[in-house]
Amino acid sequence: MNKDSAVVVFSGGQDSTTCLFWTLKHFRHVRAISFLYGQKHQKEVEIARKIAEKASVPFDIMTIPFISSLSKNALTDSTITMDQEKPQDNLPNTFVPGRNLFFLSIAAVYALEHGCDNIITGVSQTDFSGYPDCRDSFIRSLNVTLNLALEHQFVIHTPLMWLDKADTWAMADQLGVFDLVRTETLTCYNGIRGDGCGHCPACKLRKKGLEEYLKRKNTK
Ligand code: ZN
Repeated sequence: MNKDSAVVVFSGGQDSTTCLFWTLKHFRHVRAISFLYGQKHQKEVEIARKIAEKASVPFDIMTIPFISSLSKNALTDSTITMDQEKPQDNLPNTFVPGRNLFFLSIAAVYALEHGCDNIITGVSQTDFSGYPDCRDSFIRSLNVTLNLALEHQFVIHTPLMWLDKADTWAMADQLGVFDLVRTETLTCYNGIRGDGCGHCPACKLRKKGLEEYLKRKNTK
């Protein structure tokens, strides 16, 4: 095992791409994995592959189609129109139950197999959506569980946990990949790369953060 090696859970979006370059700064040996889980926009995996190639990071795809058959949600079922705002008493229908639980569990087995001690995920508790599996308490709890399950001391890193989207843009800029993140990543729920469709919840959040960051930068 290598304390200097890490696996990034990588989707090719703004957050995980920023995390990929954060990881390259902090660890010597870096690998990335993406998941095909029946999401509507499977091309995000191709985008992830291209970015990983550009960064010279070994890249693997895990195919877990059962995720989309387990539950109904707007990210995997094209007959469901996605919530534009977070419903008051409910999670948005873009929540894929169990997604990060499965992703991180698979990432840990993959990490064990490849001799990596560190796992990096771009989840953030400050996100608008309130997904329970993006919370810090869930990640800490799962970290303990995975260490027990696999009899290994992994460390799950969440560099974006307490950052908002403007802070995440700032981090990309500090890492020297602002333009790459802006033009080559896919965050949009409608599958449009870069600045995206501009009106889905993911685009709105990304754009608001970008505008805030640029304003902050220009007033310095
Ligand atoms: Zn969009």
